[in-house]
Amino acid sequence: MSNLNNESERIPAICGGSPVRSKKLYYSHQSINDKDIQAVVDVLKSDYLTTGPSITEMENRLCRITGAKYAVALSNDTAALHIACLAAGVSEGDEVITTPITFAASANCALYCGARPVFADVDPETYQIDAKDVEKKITDKTKVVIPVDYTGQTADLDAIRKICDDHGLVMIEDAAHSIGTYYKGKHIGTIADMTTFSFHAVKTITGGEGGAVITNDEELYKKLVLYRAHGITRDTSLMEHEPDGPWYYEQLCLSTNYRLTDMQAALICSQLDRLPEFSERRKAIRKLYDDAFSKMPEIFVQKETEGCDPTRHLYILRIVPEKLKISRKEFFEALGAENIICNVHYIPTYYFPYYEKLGYKRGICPNAEKLYDEMITIPLYSGMTDDDARDVITAVKKIVDYYRA
Ligand SMILES: *Cc1c(COP(=O)(O)O)cnc(C)c1O
Repeated sequence: MSNLNNESERIPAICGGSPVRSKKLYYSHQSINDKDIQAVVDVLKSDYLTTGPSITEMENRLCRITGAKYAVALSNDTAALHIACLAAGVSEGDEVITTPITFAASANCALYCGARPVFADVDPETYQIDAKDVEKKITDKTKVVIPVDYTGQTADLDAIRKICDDHGLVMIEDAAHSIGTYYKGKHIGTIADMTTFSFHAVKTITGGEGGAVITNDEELYKKLVLYRAHGITRDTSLMEHEPDGPWYYEQLCLSTNYRLTDMQAALICSQLDRLPEFSERRKAIRKLYDDAFSKMPEIFVQKETEGCDPTRHLYILRIVPEKLKISRKEFFEALGAENIICNVHYIPTYYFPYYEKLGYKRGICPNAEKLYDEMITIPLYSGMTDDDARDVITAVKKIVDYYRA
């Protein structure tokens, strides 16, 4: 039985010899300490499980970290992107420009509003949405541009801001990957009209699930608060009728329930305290990887966006196919055989059957498609030791040496 339970003994190392690691290393893992746990327990013993003080505390902290005036805590980033689009006035017939190298939610938010996502290609070296292609994809139907801070790095945000200003478009930054990232000396979050965050379990800061939108615009903020919960308000200044009494509230528009619990908000607050520590670890691991892989012609190292000081959420190992005898899929499997359990971020959104049925064809974004064929997400999380990172490097070297063209 013991042999069967030990998977590492069952899977042969594809490059021969024993696997670099005896224990599996996964691409991501949350870091929860006793203080995080106590924060959740404290809420459970308190009076408010939702719409309580931990929500306000989380919103205040996000404002402090980013310098934004307003924050709205939400159940997840998918909700954040949806209501940011609603607040931007996205509706039937509009177009929303985003990148295909992202989680599906960055484009789905346009579909929820009856609008059409339009995909702009990525820069072949930074992998970020390419401002020049964004400009090319603008039509008289375009309403919103959603750059995604892919891997935790930003796009050329100044260029995208200028394009949005020149064309009267709303800019929504999907910052699901980029808490802890600085652009031109400031924490990200105040360049776009609205910036959205994810606190899903694999992200740098987690509440299990969770999200937020931040903005400097009071009008947008008021709309976001309405859309967070059913379009209902208790704010008398927004009401259309005289209140019937102290119990009175009004529904002003149609929305749904996108509230976060106070347990999650307390966990997110506690995790935000640890952001400097998380950021430092992620930067140190990234440096170990970059230093090792930049010496290997078989691997292309993601280039930095000018002016960006990222806290990386993902590390993309990009193979140079001409220099290897194996494909990305085989490389991925060879890493698995070394007990380095990877992932791929992302399948271009318009490859999905749902998008194909909406009429999207392959070939729209050649740089994104080529990137997809060559990339593997290798482990990067704050709980990793330097030795863990060195194991990944050793495994990559072993595979490259074995399959060099
Ligand atoms: C994780 C993620 C989302 C969705 O976030 P949820 O909080 O899971 O809804 C959206 N966009 C990007 C880029 C993501 O990585």
